[in-house]
Amino acid sequence: MNVYDSSRMVDALEPEGFIQTDKIENADLILLNTCHIREKASEKVFSELGRLKKLRQRRAESGKKTMIGIAGCVAQAEGDEIMARAPVVDLVFGPQSYHRLPQMVVRAESERVIDTDFPEEDKFEYLPAASKQTTIARGLTAFLTVQEGCDKFCSFCVVPYTRGNEVSRPMAQIIAEAQNLAAAGVREITLLGQNVNAYHGPDAGGNDAGLGALLFELAKIGGLERLRYTTSHPRDMDDELIAAHRDLKELMPYLHLPVQSGSDRILKSMNRGHTRDDYLGLVERIRTARPDIALSGDFIVGFPGETDADFAATISLIKEVGYASAFSFKYSPRPGTPGALMDDQVEEKIASQRLISLQELIKEQQTDFNRHCVGSKMDVLLERKGRKQGQLAGRSPFLQAVHVDAPAEMIGAIAPLVVKSVGPNSLYGQLLAKTGDESVMAGSIERNDSAPEPARNLQA
Ligand code: SAH
Ligand code: SF4
Repeated sequence: MNVYDSSRMVDALEPEGFIQTDKIENADLILLNTCHIREKASEKVFSELGRLKKLRQRRAESGKKTMIGIAGCVAQAEGDEIMARAPVVDLVFGPQSYHRLPQMVVRAESERVIDTDFPEEDKFEYLPAASKQTTIARGLTAFLTVQEGCDKFCSFCVVPYTRGNEVSRPMAQIIAEAQNLAAAGVREITLLGQNVNAYHGPDAGGNDAGLGALLFELAKIGGLERLRYTTSHPRDMDDELIAAHRDLKELMPYLHLPVQSGSDRILKSMNRGHTRDDYLGLVERIRTARPDIALSGDFIVGFPGETDADFAATISLIKEVGYASAFSFKYSPRPGTPGALMDDQVEEKIASQRLISLQELIKEQQTDFNRHCVGSKMDVLLERKGRKQGQLAGRSPFLQAVHVDAPAEMIGAIAPLVVKSVGPNSLYGQLLAKTGDESVMAGSIERNDSAPEPARNLQA
């Protein structure tokens, strides 16, 4: 979501004369968009600020001013501390106020600015849309936030405090944004939300619509061939959403469905609101609806009170489900969350060992899944040139990276191919059809190389 938010910040600043730069040395404004989910992520902010302080000094020596801002959830949670600890920072703002950036930047010319309110107004109503050229220059796949915040309060998680209450964007607003993306040439959209399947936005008639209904609407948009969504919560996988997996060819057969732990005792203490059996039953229902679906998940090891038996239950759940990929983390106590106050914290060494063995198992399952694909046919969205001459790179329906020998004109095509082999991180395929295929859209992709001269540079 931070990638999406950063792009919206760039869009908000473009009308003010800013343009994005890839070279941080050229940036007149530097925005760090931060994550607070684990301690490691927030520590990075302060070490990065040390580097930026030196950069600012170097630029000052050649007479250039540099404005530095901290955005995102670290700003939201630790805004005052950042202001106190890091005089190099000019502005601090949370994830709900980046539509106010243009005004904040002007104010920050003369005073230090902090804005970590949860504003009444809907920031999405105020944010300008990116131009067609900017949109397609960002790629053939795009993110689109449909829901933000969370009301579930898992006992380990800071999200409900940093991102605030669950709020869904109106369906019409999302459809308009998706139509703009498709009109610019985007072929795949990933819908985003901290709890994306808790989506319940008003539809055209003002009634509450769920994520399933939204997906059925988005699938009607011409040119938009692929839909994905992340991250979902097991409690919010309703019948309509499962039906969308059964009925929509646009909805890719890949689902990220975090469970965190396979132990009922730990799930309870995490306040997840579901049991191991609930999760396994749900997986079965989803697989009945869409038998080829690939599953991914999130796991936390070393949550307070986790015993060897609890960890063994997580391992057995992973074996039972069989994942195509997964993210796994050592529990990180977050300030203000109930988990941080629990007194049976797990020793670091034990948590590390558990993480290693869990990751080995996931790696094995991922390798198995990839190997199974050899010999099968699949459609791959060819997104960009590959590292090797004459090769293009793209993604399979199951989100695997795929390389294939194909001409550059095929960028933008959803090409049928047969998987020939697997590398450590990607599949290698051979095209089954040549250009001239109707699905080849390369002609409609234009990149604007003659962007206007920047008035000021921005690095977000
Ligand atoms: N809403 C999603 C998860 C969003 S947070 C869900 O409920 O599943 C993304 C992931 O970060 C979580 O799934 C969890 O695995 C991890 N995470 C969150 N807080 C954490 C913490 N305090 N320590 C370690 N991992 C954490
Ligand atoms: Fe965090 Fe997800 Fe739990 Fe919400 S449901 S508190 S975002 S882990």
